[in-house]
Amino acid sequence: MTVNQKILILDDEVDVGEFVSAAAQGMGFECTATTDATTFLKALTPDTTLILLDLMMPGMDGIELLRLLGEQKCKASIVLMSGVDKRVLKTAAQLAQVLGLSIVGHLQKPFRLTELEGILARSSEPATLPIVQPEAQITQNEELRNAIERDEFVLHYQPLIDIATGRILGVEALVRWQHPERGLIFPDNFIGRMEGLGLIDELGWIVVNRGLSEVGQFANGDGRAPMLSLNESVYSLHDLKLPDILVSIAEKYGISPGNVTIEITESRLIEELSRTLDILARLRMKQVKLSIDDFGTGYAMMQQLKIIPATEMKIDRSFVQDMQSSEQDRIMVEKSIEMGHELGMNVIAEGVETQEQLDFLRLKGCDGAQGYLFTRPLPPAELVSWLKTYRSGLVH
Ligand code: C2E
Ligand code: CA
Ligand code: CA
Repeated sequence: MTVNQKILILDDEVDVGEFVSAAAQGMGFECTATTDATTFLKALTPDTTLILLDLMMPGMDGIELLRLLGEQKCKASIVLMSGVDKRVLKTAAQLAQVLGLSIVGHLQKPFRLTELEGILARSSEPATLPIVQPEAQITQNEELRNAIERDEFVLHYQPLIDIATGRILGVEALVRWQHPERGLIFPDNFIGRMEGLGLIDELGWIVVNRGLSEVGQFANGDGRAPMLSLNESVYSLHDLKLPDILVSIAEKYGISPGNVTIEITESRLIEELSRTLDILARLRMKQVKLSIDDFGTGYAMMQQLKIIPATEMKIDRSFVQDMQSSEQDRIMVEKSIEMGHELGMNVIAEGVETQEQLDFLRLKGCDGAQGYLFTRPLPPAELVSWLKTYRSGLVH
């Protein structure tokens, strides 16, 4: 069964447009080919069902156009076409997904008529009819933009504990969205989307400012604030001025840069290593510490680990959780501790929930632990109370 397809093509190569049009019309579809973004946007109507989009074009590139389609809440199915390597297609598809667009296929150039016909045929089957974008997602995108202006983000803090002495090594700031109606929303529900919408830098600076202004409250008796760990999206590590700005904000709040740790997820760090290495090096030159977060999930090679100027490694909680029942996870934890130490890093275990896990980690020489065994991440005032009772407990 076929449905009434209205296809729109954007490709700067006239030949490609003609080739696709001929095939589509041959299958009984209505089809328009355009060669520039302006004509494309004029030809795009609400009843366009399928878009074939070239990612590489002079003037406006396909990525920019995807962003625009996302903003316009485009409901058509999209097929990405490109001569560039597959990874670019994959990244573009991921971006489209967070923008709420519906990608139904890729065509790697040069493609054959049969491949094209296959995609056109599939996209006209009812199962792959343009997916109506859930209204909730559209509103959320707008709400996220507003949330920044309305200052709806708050930080909760979770302590990092020195396994050998029980002392507080530092606190990790974890962002939450205090939604006026829906209550507290956790970062896994909005960080990815903010990256896709290009809002992650702004959020990053909000977190940096707030964290540095709040950490002073957690000072112990001698007035020293604990180390502050901040999660930073790898996408924010593109501006060479970032280390300077970070240091100047720290100074404004009387925090020494050496008391700040930037945590970056291992998998993303490895993917973007060559692009971010200069910024990482600059951060270290200014004494800011670096932590490889979620270690074990990103397949970093020893050679790569050696060149990352990290001071800390955080073993992902998925390994910590099962390390006593799963042989593989136990080996992973043991080897991570060894490797971290060999590279001169402090090793922290995340997601420690039981005393047994803590004892096991102590035995293996792990330096620090973080997890519900001590406390969940807490709002600043609650952490202040928690720290008081915890510290007095240490003395006895
Ligand atoms: P993460 O950096 O790995 O943070 C640790 C997560 O583990 C936190 O989730 C924390 O609440 C949770 N956790 C801590 N102890 C335990 C435990 O004992 N058991 C279990 N099951 N979980 C535990 P949360 O706060 O939901 O944060 C999720 C992720 O969001 C973070 O993972 C981090 O990658 C990201 N994130 C948080 N804040 C920020 C931020 O300010 N900027 C950016 N870019 N990402 C952030
Ligand atoms: Ca973290
Ligand atoms: Ca982590």
